[in-house]
Amino acid sequence: MAEHPNPPVSDILRRLEQESQSRGIPLSDYVIILCEILDCRRTELYLDRNQTLNPSQQTRLEAFLSRLHHHEPVHYIIGKTWFYGREFLVNPAVLIPRPETEGLVELVLPRIRPSMRILDIGTGSGVIAISIKAALPDLTVDATDLSSEALSCAQLNARNHHCDITFYETDLYPPIPVTYDTIISNPPYISPGDYSALPPQIRDFEPTLALIAREQGMQFYRQILSRSQPYRHSQTTFFFEIGSSQAPMIGKLALETGFHQVEIKKDLNGLDRFAVIN
Ligand code: GLN
Repeated sequence: MAEHPNPPVSDILRRLEQESQSRGIPLSDYVIILCEILDCRRTELYLDRNQTLNPSQQTRLEAFLSRLHHHEPVHYIIGKTWFYGREFLVNPAVLIPRPETEGLVELVLPRIRPSMRILDIGTGSGVIAISIKAALPDLTVDATDLSSEALSCAQLNARNHHCDITFYETDLYPPIPVTYDTIISNPPYISPGDYSALPPQIRDFEPTLALIAREQGMQFYRQILSRSQPYRHSQTTFFFEIGSSQAPMIGKLALETGFHQVEIKKDLNGLDRFAVIN
């Protein structure tokens, strides 16, 4: 590529395809980077293969590729991701939202009414709270996180999507009790043992605070349920994302903490992924 002062996209795509194959990194990661640098959509990239990269775009491309080749997740490199049809800013203080989590939003939306009060615990980048508030603007939505850096990111995202959400920097529940109709959380649920087996893209870059939970990954579900009394009424429903092997443990925990009904729902891969508790 160095021999061509302004290489066309067709040449670059060819090189990126080779890099992807030889390094075992998905081609889609390279395409996301190239689209970011050219500020275009994926379809435009393939329709206009003769457009060229100027020198500053080339420099940026090389810098991004070097980070990708050091296993940095592509969404931290470009500083954004997409969730439930919207663009969100992300940075290493927040977990990169996973596609499975869109299923949590899908599960919640048909079960809430516009007048309700909702709490999103451990909001991270804010994707769950914002997707729900944007779909039903009359809802009252509160969101919490322990990390002030994560909350800054969530607040920016809320502003970008014109969502009026009250954020609290706190451990799980807001400091002053109010009752919620719906309590949602995708808390950390990976046990310390499972964490060490995760790929380097996750272990070396994503916040451990957002991933690891003690008690075989059950720590935060237990704390959320057992501390919920001042924040719920008799009809309050909890929606959790869970690890695919945690359904039996969640069922047991819910019964132990005084709940009567636990429904387990699957994600698009057919794995147990969500628990609805009341
Ligand atoms: N609620 C955020 C998400 O689902 C953050 C989750 C977390 O940090 N465990 O992406």
